Amino acid sequence: MVDVQKRIQELRKQLNQYNYEYYALNASTVEDYIYDKLMNELVRLEAEHPEYKDDNSPSVRVGGMVISKFEKVVHASPMQSLANTFNEQDLNDFNKRIAQAIGQEDIEYVCELKIDGLAMTLIYENGKLVMGATRGDGVTGENVTHNIRTVKNIPLQLDEPLSIEVRGEVYMPKSSFEKLNHARAAEEQALFANPRNAAAGSIRQLDSKIAASRDLAMFVYGAPIETYQQLTTDGKHSSMLAHLGELHFPTNPVTTVCPNINAVFEFINHWTLHRHELPYEIDGIVIKVNDSRLYEQIGVTAKAPKWAIAYKFPAEEVATTLQDIIFTI
Ligand code: NAD
Repeated sequence: MVDVQKRIQELRKQLNQYNYEYYALNASTVEDYIYDKLMNELVRLEAEHPEYKDDNSPSVRVGGMVISKFEKVVHASPMQSLANTFNEQDLNDFNKRIAQAIGQEDIEYVCELKIDGLAMTLIYENGKLVMGATRGDGVTGENVTHNIRTVKNIPLQLDEPLSIEVRGEVYMPKSSFEKLNHARAAEEQALFANPRNAAAGSIRQLDSKIAASRDLAMFVYGAPIETYQQLTTDGKHSSMLAHLGELHFPTNPVTTVCPNINAVFEFINHWTLHRHELPYEIDGIVIKVNDSRLYEQIGVTAKAPKWAIAYKFPAEEVATTLQDIIFTI
């Protein structure tokens, strides 16, 4: 028992340190798959030993950090993380839980690419962009409006005088990342480890000239529930994305409505094989229940909604054969 408690403490300490490096310094010292393995071990031990439960454990909190050099922004509705899975069984269990919660057999889902960037919320008042903020710890983020204004595919003014909040991911395309690191190498500057680090490092700068020079882009993929109510008549996530597209928000064209979990597996199989053909990095697939009117009924945990899940690609270094990563349908 003492060993278990000691291991839980060690894992919490280690994961808090990795969170700090990843979210505050934008400089990870371990691969994501190692972080995910340690986090899974912590979640398992905490589930097996509820006597060591702690509300401050990294397993129950959204991992981001707020740096004091930016103005703090309290999100009107929390910016949560996503529950993660690496296997087919967990996805089938997720599907069963949803089916039970809403009393339907076949659930309509939306499958999206999980863009490897930085979560951002955009607030518009009367059609004008007034704020761009990071997720931070989910409750409080950082005001980075000055940098968000430099991201060319984010509309600064909408055609309709809407007051809405939309959420998505700011990322750096692979080719821009390579160009940037090439230029930094030539100037003997430290290189960015990956496009995510480069995007986060560019957005969290006080001087907007830096972000402006970095060729960032955004995909919008969600919103607080009030925005669904404003932009759709049927409450569907797919309808909201379609309306956001009409308003000239950058939505991802490969997003697909899947009539049931089998169609979800087909989408995952396709993008597991083809993800390297994309001009930007993804680290998985996000599966969301399409009907937002069910979200309240399905519920949320402290960290993530229960109506969505992220299927994460196994790290390629540890994927032994293609067989391991393809689901059977
Ligand atoms: P996450 O990245 O696993 O999933 C949630 C995030 O996915 C959202 O906040 C959003 O930013 C993003 N996202 C991308 N596309 C999306 C879409 N289409 N719809 C909805 N969300 C989408 O969770 P997290 O809390 O941001 O980060 C945890 C993960 O980060 C860990 O599992 C680990 O892989 C990595 N991490 C690594 C280290 C390290 O030191 N290597 C440290 C901390 C975290």
